[in-house]
Amino acid sequence: MSKRILCLLLAMLLLCTLVPAPTVAAAGTKLVALTFDDGPGPDTNRLLDGLKARGAKATFFLVGNRASGYLAQIKREYDEGHQVACHSWDHSDLTKLGNSDVKAQFTKSYAVFDKACGSGTSYVTRAPYGNANDRVRNVVNTPFIYWSVDPQDWKDRNAKTVKDRIVKDAKNGSIILVHDIHSTSVDGALQAIDVLQAQGYEFVTVNELFRRRGVTLCNATTYYSCGESTTDLGAVQKPEITYRAVNGGIQVSISAQKGATIYYNTSGDRFTAQSQKYTGPFLVSSPCTVYAVAAFNLNGSRSAQVSQKLTQDGFRQQAKTPVVTIENGVLTMRTDTAGASLLYTLDDTDPAVLARKYSGPVTLEPGVVVRAMAGGDQFSNSAQVRLYYSVRGNVFVDVFPGAWYCDAVDQVSQLGLMNGLGDYRYAPGDSLTRGMMVTLLYRYAGQPLKNDNKRTNSFSDVPNGAYYAQAVEWAYRTGIVNGYPNGCFQPNGKITRQELCKLISCMMKYRGFPLPENSNMTAQFSDGTQVSGWARPYVNATVKAGLIKGDTGGTLRPNGTATRAEAATILLRMLAYEKR
Ligand code: ZN
Repeated sequence: MSKRILCLLLAMLLLCTLVPAPTVAAAGTKLVALTFDDGPGPDTNRLLDGLKARGAKATFFLVGNRASGYLAQIKREYDEGHQVACHSWDHSDLTKLGNSDVKAQFTKSYAVFDKACGSGTSYVTRAPYGNANDRVRNVVNTPFIYWSVDPQDWKDRNAKTVKDRIVKDAKNGSIILVHDIHSTSVDGALQAIDVLQAQGYEFVTVNELFRRRGVTLCNATTYYSCGESTTDLGAVQKPEITYRAVNGGIQVSISAQKGATIYYNTSGDRFTAQSQKYTGPFLVSSPCTVYAVAAFNLNGSRSAQVSQKLTQDGFRQQAKTPVVTIENGVLTMRTDTAGASLLYTLDDTDPAVLARKYSGPVTLEPGVVVRAMAGGDQFSNSAQVRLYYSVRGNVFVDVFPGAWYCDAVDQVSQLGLMNGLGDYRYAPGDSLTRGMMVTLLYRYAGQPLKNDNKRTNSFSDVPNGAYYAQAVEWAYRTGIVNGYPNGCFQPNGKITRQELCKLISCMMKYRGFPLPENSNMTAQFSDGTQVSGWARPYVNATVKAGLIKGDTGGTLRPNGTATRAEAATILLRMLAYEKR
């Protein structure tokens, strides 16, 4: 069985089984394909104007060696929805050429056509003089399109004659052969279109003639017409662009009829086989226009182009983060975005999911985690605010239940030993400075220097008026600190854990609760040998008393810095030690 017969059988089988109930268009839909050979030529632009004015599509079987001089016309043919096809490089009788010469007739032509249509475009074939055989068809390996109506326009250069012959012979499914290198042929063809359109004929490309009738064109196979079938799958429908505002921009979706490929861009560039194919919704983050076409083949089987402008109005404004205050257990919220709603939860769940709408001050139970945001239909949601209204009535943005230091920070805050840093910020992970630690101890001691502004220390780096100045003066007088040998105190230096041990030991002695001496606690830590000689008695004493502990890895980190969260814990242990 020849390849062609197999192909035909397959096509018929497909028709019977796979083609879904074709839409049978308005009774009498008559499709014809007008084809123009041997161009382009000086009359091609005039022909394209005439086709455009009539809403007619055609197929152009171009000769490759003429094409270079007419790239603008070929581009126009392709862009205006006509079909570009190949009629060999130099109009040779292909049956008289060897295989490699036949091949070259087409590869050379395609390279020129691609300059106008884009690489990847597929071109059907018409052999010059209609001369081909199985060998030629298999070498070229595209569908071969011949004709069923021949008005002999190359012989009789008379527009009326050409028109009359086309009108007389054309019927549903016809492929009509004309040559756009003769101006009489261009005139005759345009006049024939007017007559046949009035009789209900629609002028489509070769690709569309067969697709709409549900016929798949096969390679190396010759077609003379599409037959009298009235099956009509309809013209290629325009794609539909829809969009919706989402966080971060606009999500664009494009839909088209089943089986069609959607090509799109935001540049407005012409569509070729290399253009971006749509595979699913995409995000656009700034105003632009989205262009799209649907196509079964961009070369002559495509929809009209559609576009959708996405203006700034389409992008939802993000609501500003609300200002949330908790004072004396009363929650108040406001936003600077007019029209935005305030949403909140009291159980640490996401307010974007299930929230209460804020309408006025809310009295809180202690121990709740508040989450709040601004949003609403016309806005994208603001960033969220998360606050802990503690069991002791403190408010934190960075201390939450579940943290190991949460209760200690809550307690020292309530006792007034440690203050936050403003805006409900406690900064539990921040390193503790020497000035801060001495201030904590001073508060612990009850701020005994209240009305005494005399200064007995001579630390050059402790300015009068610094928040820690009075605390340092007190610590100096009591002997808890004595500074560095160079006369500095380094109030902004980060306190090391072994320095902390010395301060705590001296403090407890001053308070009348001296820590146990003469132990060797450092030996149990893997990094115990890193404790400096001067610090060893203090480290031993504070560890023995349980005021300082190693971390879970069995290390003491004597030269590591202490955090504000650790300081809170140690202050509570000191209080407990005094109450033993
Ligand atoms: Zn020809």
